[in-house]
Amino acid sequence: GTDIGSQKDRVVTEEEWLQRWATGNIGFHKEQGHPLLRKYLDVLLNGRRGLRIFFPLCGKAVEMKWLAAMGHSVVGVEVSERALKEFFAEHSLPYREEPVPEISGAKKLQSTSGNISLYCCSIYDLSSSIVGKFDGVWDRGALVAVNPCDRQRYASLMITLMEKNSSYLLVTVSYDPNKHKGPPFYVPESEIKSLFGNHCEIKCLQKVDDFSDKHRQWGLDYFLEVLYILKFVA
Ligand code: SAH
Repeated sequence: GTDIGSQKDRVVTEEEWLQRWATGNIGFHKEQGHPLLRKYLDVLLNGRRGLRIFFPLCGKAVEMKWLAAMGHSVVGVEVSERALKEFFAEHSLPYREEPVPEISGAKKLQSTSGNISLYCCSIYDLSSSIVGKFDGVWDRGALVAVNPCDRQRYASLMITLMEKNSSYLLVTVSYDPNKHKGPPFYVPESEIKSLFGNHCEIKCLQKVDDFSDKHRQWGLDYFLEVLYILKFVA
């Protein structure tokens, strides 16, 4: 397969993620939302209304509010409670907190209107018996943020959360993994195929040049976003 260099042994701990949120080191957050979700929303929805849409490793992604306002039901999971509270506060959305009986220490923060439910716990604590199955997934900053040693576990879990005839939009990044330690981690197309290929049809929709000063400072000389659609056929 494609070489991912020294990244395969890199581990970012939960504490490091919490620390990033505590210090505002969240350069991954996009205040205006992600242009590729706007552009390919129809591919994700496929003409359907009132879908259940999952945001793994959601941070405070603004598209959660956007999709909920369109009548979909949004579920997210995120280890940082601060991130989730910032999400509700920044959109002036009232919410309530409740424990999750199946997961010790976990909380669910749910918009009062009921259509945004955000689990504060590790994604590895979830299962379809707790969160149900989904018609759509928006995976941006999620698979690429998972430690490389956990990718198989992550993908296997995601597959169990997919409904029949569901769609999964996956944004990965492409750069020279010998020049930056990540996250985001480089995930080659060959790995997408080996992680998901037995369970769905995979199509690359677009590659976007996303190179910026930030990436230059990381020591890179190219940086692409690569968007895939995974279709879980009946
Ligand atoms: N998808 C969001 C956030 C990307 S950064 C966006 O695009 O803006 C990755 C996020 O995953 C961080 O907010 C981090 O706190 C969270 N995270 C890391 N490991 C996690 C895990 N095991 N379970 C749930 N969330 C996790």
